[in-house]
Amino acid sequence: MDATDLLRRLVLCFVFAGLAACAKVGSGSQERDFSDRSIRVVATTTVVADLARMVGGTLVSVEGLMGPGVDPHLFKASARDVATMAEADIIMYNGLHLEGKMADVFAEMQARGIATLAVAEGIPDTLLRESALFQGNYDPHIWLDAILWKRAAHVVAQRLSAMAPGHADLFVAQGNSFGAALDTVHAYAQQAVRRVAPAQRVIVTSHDAFGYYGDAYGFEVVGLQGISTATEAGTADVQRVARMVAERRIPAIFIESSVSPRGIAAVREAVRARGFEVVIGGTLFGDALDAPGTPSGTYLGMLRYNTDTIVEALTNAGGH
Ligand SMILES: [Zn+2]
Repeated sequence: MDATDLLRRLVLCFVFAGLAACAKVGSGSQERDFSDRSIRVVATTTVVADLARMVGGTLVSVEGLMGPGVDPHLFKASARDVATMAEADIIMYNGLHLEGKMADVFAEMQARGIATLAVAEGIPDTLLRESALFQGNYDPHIWLDAILWKRAAHVVAQRLSAMAPGHADLFVAQGNSFGAALDTVHAYAQQAVRRVAPAQRVIVTSHDAFGYYGDAYGFEVVGLQGISTATEAGTADVQRVARMVAERRIPAIFIESSVSPRGIAAVREAVRARGFEVVIGGTLFGDALDAPGTPSGTYLGMLRYNTDTIVEALTNAGGH
């Protein structure tokens, strides 16, 4: 709604409906001021929900649609999820087609006048990884680079500030505080990778979630599936990855909490058939955080946990 449109609607409602109805103008959209109560945020993934909580603090109530272990590429909103979204003051999602089956429901919510925010879509294209699989699309897994995720935190702080101008200073302060914590975990990961011999700095996982992580922290990344899990890995993918692991004697490969471990188990068997033993180095949290209350149940804990798991597996198993 542009300013002229809003003015016209205001005039019309004063004339025809009286003052009470005028309070409804802009309901659910950004024109409303939420400074007098907490903002109801509905977030798609556990990672986006964590971001909303870190930036919004006690001034937001956050409900996440996807639990731990849920794959966002395949997630479809249930009737209950749609009802939850319809009650939101704002729906926050990652965007860049991460939530590949939710485009229609986002459009429906927008049509109903509910505010939405794709936290990844304010990031300049030049900082995004192009998708080899889908031309013109970008890799959506930006949160696995803590510095890129700072930009998403800024986007959320700006939007919450616009919704509740009375609390803008607090949202900006909380965003900055989270940003400082992101700097710390980023430095931790950059330091940790140095323990791994350069030739062994390879992360083999179920799907290509770790491209940004690899770029940021110095790992080569090999996903069995592409940047989406919508297509299952075939025998050729398993053999391609197994050959690479065996030839380069990569000591460990990893499963992901939101993807079936079958594909990685098949790679392990195929590597064994080539006369080399590779271990499953652990479970990484790529597209979903762990359960609340666990060390990897928050974004900051997750990045540290993934880094420790990767570094330990690639160093401990090395030399065997
Ligand atoms: Zn993914």
